[in-house]
Amino acid sequence: MPVVFISHGSPTLAFDDVPARDFLVRLSSKLPQPKAILCISAHWETAIPSVTGNPAPSTIHDFYGFPQALYELRYDAPGDPELAGRVVALLEGQGCNALINSERGLDHGAWSPLILAYPQSGIPVLQLSLIHHRSPADHVALGRLLAPLREEGILILASGGAVHNLRALDWRNRGGKEEWAEAFDRWLTDHVESGDLASLTRYRDLAPNATVAHPSEDHILPLFVALGAAAGRAEQAKGERIHHSFTLGSLSMSAFAWGL
Ligand code: ZN
Repeated sequence: MPVVFISHGSPTLAFDDVPARDFLVRLSSKLPQPKAILCISAHWETAIPSVTGNPAPSTIHDFYGFPQALYELRYDAPGDPELAGRVVALLEGQGCNALINSERGLDHGAWSPLILAYPQSGIPVLQLSLIHHRSPADHVALGRLLAPLREEGILILASGGAVHNLRALDWRNRGGKEEWAEAFDRWLTDHVESGDLASLTRYRDLAPNATVAHPSEDHILPLFVALGAAAGRAEQAKGERIHHSFTLGSLSMSAFAWGL
């Protein structure tokens, strides 16, 4: 299976008439049919990597102040407790402590893109958490441990944001783009496409406007899990950009795939 990183943008994505929505609607037609989806969302961080083991995960509406219709959306994908156990065993077998969380549902970093890409498809969806206070390199290392799942037909879908600064959003600007955001997005894309893992993990020192593009790292860390899963044991992993647009001035909706 390929590995995919997408930018999920605003929680209203399912209702927004923007290019990123159309991209997600068409995404599954570009990919082999997965047996299950393991989603790494910007919106779940834990001290120890955790996998959802809930057989019927709820739709978590983890945002405030949005239109009521958004709180009524449900994404009824099944979970897969047996697969959750195998993912934890895979991590632990490689020396990485991991836990199953049988209570948690799917946060909007997972369901808001999936409701477009795989609408009520019956494909099981699991989430794997980010690790609290850990570096990009640590998340590449975590991703590398997941690489064998690709051989089992499991889609590793990382969901964050290529540029994500909520204070810089311009809610009246649906189509334009800010120069600083575009410069960061261009750097990120160039390095994903050249497979330069070493530079990517140092993006905060090397990329233009990195701390403006990501005041906190939560929305870019899923990218590093994807990079690790794409590389496996290799030093490099050349990806390709499969979508590019901006919304609200500076929110890059870039998406990348490896092994497509
Ligand atoms: Zn988000």
